[in-house]
Amino acid sequence: MSDVIVDAGVVVLGAGPGGYAAAFRAADLGLDVTLVDPEPNPGGVCLFRGCIPSKALLHQAALLEEATAAAERGIAFAAPTIDLARLRDWKDGVVTTLTSGLGQLAKSRAVRRIRGRGAFLERNLLEVSAQEDAGRSVIRFQHCIVATGSRPTVLPGLDTESPLVMNSTEALELPDVPARLLVVGGGYIGLELATVYQALGSKVTVVEMTDTLLPGVDPDLTRVLAKRMESRLDAVRLRTKVTALEAGVGGCTVRLEHADGATEQAFDRVLVAAGRRPNSSGLGLKHTAAHVNERGFIAVDAQRRTAEPGIFAIGDVAGEPMLAHKATHEGLIAAEAIAGRDVAFDPAAIPAVVYTDPEIAWCGLTESQAAAAGRAVEVGRFPWAASGRALTLGRTDGLTKVLIDPETHRVLGAGIVGHGAGDLIAEVIHAIEMGAVAEDLALTIHPHPTLSETVMEAAEAALGKSVHMHKRRR
Ligand code: NAD
Repeated sequence: MSDVIVDAGVVVLGAGPGGYAAAFRAADLGLDVTLVDPEPNPGGVCLFRGCIPSKALLHQAALLEEATAAAERGIAFAAPTIDLARLRDWKDGVVTTLTSGLGQLAKSRAVRRIRGRGAFLERNLLEVSAQEDAGRSVIRFQHCIVATGSRPTVLPGLDTESPLVMNSTEALELPDVPARLLVVGGGYIGLELATVYQALGSKVTVVEMTDTLLPGVDPDLTRVLAKRMESRLDAVRLRTKVTALEAGVGGCTVRLEHADGATEQAFDRVLVAAGRRPNSSGLGLKHTAAHVNERGFIAVDAQRRTAEPGIFAIGDVAGEPMLAHKATHEGLIAAEAIAGRDVAFDPAAIPAVVYTDPEIAWCGLTESQAAAAGRAVEVGRFPWAASGRALTLGRTDGLTKVLIDPETHRVLGAGIVGHGAGDLIAEVIHAIEMGAVAEDLALTIHPHPTLSETVMEAAEAALGKSVHMHKRRR
């Protein structure tokens, strides 16, 4: 089959939340856009194999939890029956609705789409190999935006070829509900999927090699989550590493190493969620001046331009945090920079959310970072036991804290653990972007009774004048 030669103004490599946002904005700015991705529709890992399917399953997991908890409050349901095929279909339907919608949006914007994987031949030439030997395209471009994302880390020494050993993609396909599931990694993915499988009926063990779940997150937030997870999971084993895994016909034998010694344990399935690596190799970047650092991230400037002036990089492949919303914003900046706009990627803060039960969300400066930098901060905390709304939900397992500058009262950061924390953090992110001070949050009339009041109360606490908490005067 002969090569198809395409002349493109802007070619975007990868159609995840970074890539498709960049392509759509570039098209809206009047540029000629080609979007390259192996999938039939835009969406990338986030929509097809990540954020969206996991949140669909987490919602059903929350429903199961809620139904069980309701019995204590006088409403008892019969034990649920779980139709895995139907659950899978519903989740896949959510993904299809979203991704086909994006396909329509691409079409209406006249974004040219080429299916396959691209690699640079020269600084302005890409080849795209289609999957099923459908020939290849060669694209001559003026600008390229690399948005190729990341992939799961493979742990050395583990037999990951076995169908019993899953990565996050395979776990989201819900092959079955294993009686005993081992989750390797107590990070975002490990804890979210542990929550799903536990709710569906698996006995779940999480092993984490560091001394805490969600390393890097403030301990007062993770403590609340750890308490609930420990009560629901079979075991949470910190400072523990999986050093060997042997998969047999009906299960896996795993060697768990801890400072006190090693043990062997049997599981029906294993999920490995030990981090992600940027997809920067195999792209032919050596044929360009773009620089890849020792961790595999493509180096970029404030416009997300690489050392090769015509090539930009955004999202997971261009550095941490590896989060979809950061990729989207970078994509918009790159597209606008290519269109000649005077823009820079310069967020005051980027929010992070772990969609466990309860959720954990944070943004801006954390207490751990402030302590490490020796920076003085005033921290206002509001425990959800004092929130009327949290009590009515039966979810007092929460905490909202706001970090402010002791002199200027400028809002520097926030951390929230609790039901719906991921939605609540948006208010503080907005405050930080607006350069707000604690008084702005405290004097804003929040609707009552809502969980959003906990942000106002935490700001009041930071200013030393909380209504619903009282410190006795000495
Ligand atoms: P992660 O970095 O969040 O967590 C991996 C964990 O595995 C770490 O705590 C690490 O200490 C542990 N670990 C590594 N090797 C181990 C070993 N041999 N034995 C035991 N523990 C080990 O990575 P992830 O959970 O795989 O997620 C990858 C990335 O995807 C995240 O960094 C995040 O950026 C993104 N993500 C985001 C969301 C979200 O926004 N809600 C959800 C999922 C993934």
